[in-house]
Amino acid sequence: MKDLIIIGAGPGGLTAAIYGMRAGLDLLVIEKFSPGGQVVNTYEVENYPGFVDPIPGWELVSSMENQARRLNAEIISADVIAIQKNTADKSFTVSLADGSTHTSKTVIIASGASYRNLNVPGEKEYLGRGVSYCATCDGAFYKDRITAVVGGGDTALEEALFLTRFSKKVYLIHRREQFRGQKILQDRVLQSEKIEPVYNSVITSINGEGGVTSFTAKNVSTEEESTIPVDGVFIFIGFVPNTQFLDPSLLNDRGEILVDMQMATSVPGMYAIGDVRADSKRQIVMACADGATAALNAYEYLQQLSC
Ligand code: NAP
Repeated sequence: MKDLIIIGAGPGGLTAAIYGMRAGLDLLVIEKFSPGGQVVNTYEVENYPGFVDPIPGWELVSSMENQARRLNAEIISADVIAIQKNTADKSFTVSLADGSTHTSKTVIIASGASYRNLNVPGEKEYLGRGVSYCATCDGAFYKDRITAVVGGGDTALEEALFLTRFSKKVYLIHRREQFRGQKILQDRVLQSEKIEPVYNSVITSINGEGGVTSFTAKNVSTEEESTIPVDGVFIFIGFVPNTQFLDPSLLNDRGEILVDMQMATSVPGMYAIGDVRADSKRQIVMACADGATAALNAYEYLQQLSC
């Protein structure tokens, strides 16, 4: 039986692994995809302390992974489908999609969040043929072409700015009159000659023939609809927490895991960190801080168990 199982190997999970290994815990990290989390798709990170210049997201998180591996953290690739607390010995059984199980004395859930869908006609049909959720991955396909970005948060603003490296024009469609993202990003967006904000508007359909050719948007104030030709539509309208494998009693009404200041859930020995937990500010540095907090508290809990 492991001391600790960490579910998810984004910045939070990897930091928990680093702290857990340094505390001498026998731990296992289980990641559904490859280590890194959402940061892998971030072109540049400018607000992670310690780096004077912006650092590519993949580089930052692969350093975290290498650091955890140098400390001998075991990281496996598998899909967690359930976690069960065994009342007799207070252990946890973590079930994987391949039918196998792992047991541990503590669990840290760091499973992050997945992008939210717009749920409009054309979104699914043209996925990979003009519809994208990753500008870092697909932006270069739109050299000298016209793109649209949907959303008004930090991600939409950052990704719209990134797309100006390739696209000759970027429409930035937001359902309100003012962006939600950080002031520094808003200023950069408004200063960009390539970005045209489309305020108070929601996309009602993404249109095409084989690939995307236009989108139709409705002005929420006037109800007026217009169709604008574009070659690609990038959707950044937030994230939904990856908590499908958990008991609903652990979650709030947004599907996020409820924790206290120690990152402890209502189940003794189970912690949740980063974007999957309630009240997260969804910053890399905060996911890392959560990871350190949870690992140190898991260590203390293990000490008490053995008393
Ligand atoms: P977000 O802050 O939740 O913003 C989502 C945006 O999409 C909002 O502007 C929202 O509109 C809009 N939206 C949501 N549902 C929509 C729908 N169905 N149709 C149209 N628009 C919709 O998400 P995010 O930008 O991905 O950021 C997530 C978190 O990560 C935030 O806490 C953010 O600060 C953080 N983040 C930080 C950085 C950084 O520090 N460099 C970079 C990226 C992300 P409303 O404004 O009307 O709600």
